[in-house]
Formats: sequence, structure tokens, C-alpha cells
Amino acid sequence: MSGTGRPGYEERAYWHATTPALPSYAGAPLPARVDVAVVGGGYTGVSAALHVARGGASVAVLEAETLGWGASTRNGGMVHPGLKWGPRTLRARYGAELGDRLYRATVDAFDLVETLVRDEAIDCDYVRSGHLSLAWTPAHAAWHEAQLAEIAPFGMSGRAVPRERLPEEIGTDHYYGGLVIDQSGGLHPGRYFAGLATAAARAGATLCERAGVRAVEREPGGFRLRTDRGELRCGEVILGTNGYTGGAVPWLQRRVIPIGSYIIAPEPLDPAVAAEVSPKGRIFFDSKNFLYYWRVLPDRRMMFGGRASFRHTTIARTAAILSRAMAEVHPRLAGVRVDYAWGGNVAFTFDRMPHLGRREGITYALGYCGSGVALATGFGRTAAEVVLRGIDAVRPPFAEIPYPGAPVSERFYGGDPWFLPLVGEWFRLRDRWGRARARAFAG
Ligand SMILES: Cc1cc2nc3c(=O)[nH]c(=O)nc-3n(C[C@H](O)[C@H](O)[C@H](O)COP(=O)(O)OP(=O)(O)OC[C@H]3O[C@@H](n4cnc5c(N)ncnc54)[C@H](O)[C@@H]3O)c2cc1C
Repeated sequence: MSGTGRPGYEERAYWHATTPALPSYAGAPLPARVDVAVVGGGYTGVSAALHVARGGASVAVLEAETLGWGASTRNGGMVHPGLKWGPRTLRARYGAELGDRLYRATVDAFDLVETLVRDEAIDCDYVRSGHLSLAWTPAHAAWHEAQLAEIAPFGMSGRAVPRERLPEEIGTDHYYGGLVIDQSGGLHPGRYFAGLATAAARAGATLCERAGVRAVEREPGGFRLRTDRGELRCGEVILGTNGYTGGAVPWLQRRVIPIGSYIIAPEPLDPAVAAEVSPKGRIFFDSKNFLYYWRVLPDRRMMFGGRASFRHTTIARTAAILSRAMAEVHPRLAGVRVDYAWGGNVAFTFDRMPHLGRREGITYALGYCGSGVALATGFGRTAAEVVLRGIDAVRPPFAEIPYPGAPVSERFYGGDPWFLPLVGEWFRLRDRWGRARARAFAG
């Protein structure tokens, strides 16, 4: 804290401070009718709009705030394929064929980000750096070779890094080993979003800000949407509201659990310190339930993020938690000045899987469980294909898995996750217990 009692950092995303302003779309008139209306102006929404417009249909994105206001300009910018579950678990749960298609779709989503960055010449500092997943316990490290074998058939490569060789990858001995995966990278999420939105507008999509959708009503031939800026009629609706899903479509709200994720960006590091903590410039995350994720940005700032808290909280509190966590992982970063601190909502689901499908004529794409830079971009494209060609022609694998709601009645869960503090505490205890066991066995 500074001497004035105010925090010495800005409570806003570092990305917001470093993205050139997009043109304002707040005044753009709302069309009376379009073929496709997209609700939510993040990666899902603008990617859907880009691909609908490329397909020759008229499309409008309706964003309640300003374009990119949600997680899409607040995230860590870490782009990678994969889900919470690896291919083996997906096959066991959903059958071999569907399990493989689910995993393949995540690899395709990652490829799509790289293709868009290249073909649309999006200036977002994208580097395919590879990522290092860090084992919180010896049991997690023991699993690395098997994980590599599972993903190899999908064209993915990497290597397990034993604990004694971790200094080649990261300047800390806080973990029991690491797993490098080559197919992943880091980008500036704000500038990536701006590039996607610009591409969508260039392809002919209408982008409307301050146009929150309050109700989606069916009528003959399509839908009538009541928005903050009047009514709009459309043939098809795509919903891409992820961690900000409200009550406009109540059955969807009950299937999403909004959770806060938080980040700090301290002052730029001395070049020697930056090289020590991140010798290969990778993106990092650990294997805890209460995970941390971090990387050194091109201007040598450490960006360090995590769930930090499952309670209603403040940026000041999460910034303090993350500063302590960063110093635990990298003791030589204790005391570095935090310049930016912020947070945003991710969307979990009750099966920890993302979902894309159709219900009551509405196409939805959401629930990325904290890893949506690639997935949301890919789901936006698939949602566009579904409304253009029909779901039976596209056969998106995520539409073939069940989409469970809360395991309690509507009375107990309408979209406000009152149970999160309890669940968070349970996961935190499991993380501590895993570490304590590892230390006891080592001792
Ligand atoms: C702090 C943080 C760090 C993260 N780090 C990473 C990372 O490193 N890598 C990764 O892969 N993922 C990460 N994520 C997750 C990733 O950012 C999201 O999964 C992704 O941005 C989701 O995009 P989206 O377009 O679906 O949703 P959002 O970008 O959240 O957009 C949803 C939009 O819908 C709008 N909306 C809601 N309701 C309505 C309505 N009724 N009418 C009109 N508009 C509405 C909201 O205003 C919002 O702008 C992170 C997220 C956070 C918050």
C-alpha cells in the first residue's frame, strides 16, 4: 500500500492498459432483423460472428457492456489444447470414438487460434513457447510419461522433466517435476480479442455494445430478443455468455457455475531475474486443485494468477494472496511491487466439461472451466457451423455428451453458487493434505 492508504497498483487488467482502444460500437444502430444473433461479445461471440459472416449470413453480436468486457480481455493469455480430463479418461467416460473426437476438437481449437493469428495478422505477441505443467505432489509427477503417451496420437509432443532437472525450465524447487508440452503458447489477450473483433467486423458482422439481452422469446420463424436497446428479430440465436451467463435463458444459467479468477502483474523484473525464473520463456501452471498459472511477459513483468478465493472477495485481498503465493513459488520475487491487479469470471460446469449444443432452438457454447482462449475461439466457429449447416451435419462431439445441471432442485441452485466457499475449502485441504503426505514420506 502507498502512504495514502490506497493500493499502489491499478485495479484494472494490464491488458486493458496496453491494448489500443477499439472503435466504440455503443452508438451503432441495432438492426431490426438478422439471420443470426450472437449474445455475448467475447471470444466465443466474435469468433461465432466471424464464421457466420464468412458463411454469408447476416449476424449481429449483442454485448451487454463493451466488446471483450468479460474474461476475454482479462485472462492469462495462455493458449493450449486439452480439457480437465485427458484422452484416456474421456474414452472411459464417453466411449473410444467420442472420447477421441472430444479431445481432437480441443487440438483443432488450438490450431484455429494459431491460424487466425497468422492469417488475420493479429498483432498480439503470440509465441508458441510450450507450457510446463508442474507437479504439486510426487504422485502427479509419476503420471507424466503416461500423459505424454495419451496425447501423442493427437500429434502432441513433449517431455517429462524430473525434479533434479527443473532448474533448466524454471527457477524454483517448489515442485516435484514438470511436464513440457510443445503445443501451447502465450499471447496478449486484449490485442488478440481486438484482432478477432476487427476480423468479424471486416467480414460483415454488426457489433453492438450496451445491448444486454433481457429475454429470448420464440416466435414463428425464429426469435424475438428484448435488449437494453430495443428489440431484434432473428432466425437463430447463439449464446456465448460463459461466466457472465444471467437469467435471459434460465435453464442455461442453472448449468453454469461462475467462479472468479485473479491475476497480478508486478513491475518489470531485472533481466537476470527474469531469465532465472523463466529460462525458456514458457507458460507455467501447477497441478493443484487451487491452481496457480504464470508467465513472464515480453516486457519482463511476471503475470501471476490463480483462483485465490472462492468467496465473494476484493481485488485488494486477492492481490495480497497472489503476491504471497508468487513469493512462495519464487522466493526471490518477494517484495516486488505490484503494478496491476484484476479479476474476471470463468464458468465451471457440474461435470467440469465445456458444452456446445442446441436446446429449444438456441445454440449455446460455454463452460470452459478456466481454459477458454483456444476453446472459446473453436466453439465460436463450431456454433457458427451449427447454425449455418445444422447440428446433424456438423455433429459437434460436445453436443453428444450429457449436460448435467445442478444435482439439487431449482430452489437450491438458480445460478448463484452459494456452495463455492465450502467446495473451495475442500479443494484447498486436499491440496495441503497431498503436500503434507509427500513431505511425510520424504522425511
Ligand atoms: C483471470 C482469468 C484468467 C484466465 N486465464 C486463462 C488462460 O490463461 N488461458 C485460457 O485458456 N483461459 C483463461 N481464462 C478463461 C478465458 O478467458 C475464458 O474461458 C474465455 O475468455 C471465455 O470467452 P467467452 O467469450 O465465452 O466469455 P467472456 O469473454 O466472459 O464473454 C462473455 C460476455 O457475455 C456478455 N453477456 C453476458 N450476458 C449477456 C446478455 N444477457 N446480453 C449481452 N451480453 C451478455 C458479458 O458482458 C461478457 O462480455 C481466464 C479467465 C480469467 C477470468
